[in-house]
Amino acid sequence: MGVVCLFGVYGGFLSIAVIRELAKYFANKEVSVMSEKLSLVTCTSCGKPIPPGSESTKFLCPNCGEIQIKRDGKCRKFGRLFKCPNCGFQGP
Ligand SMILES: [Zn+2]
Ligand SMILES: [Zn+2]
Repeated sequence: MGVVCLFGVYGGFLSIAVIRELAKYFANKEVSVMSEKLSLVTCTSCGKPIPPGSESTKFLCPNCGEIQIKRDGKCRKFGRLFKCPNCGFQGP
């Protein structure tokens, strides 16, 4: 009886621990997905997402200095125009 009781307590403790670990796992997963979304930058010129580690450039708007302009390697290479969403400044 005592052993069964002990197993019952241990089993209950285990499942709580498992649920806690699962919750932690999913919470972490959600956070990592969210940060991935946040870190996914789009090219100001063409609007396409810039893959992390690719040849891209970031600089503040030369006119208002409030918006960070991001351009992927292609747009930088071809000198495509960008437009600041804050002040409307256009530049190469
Ligand atoms: Zn682009
Ligand atoms: Zn601007």
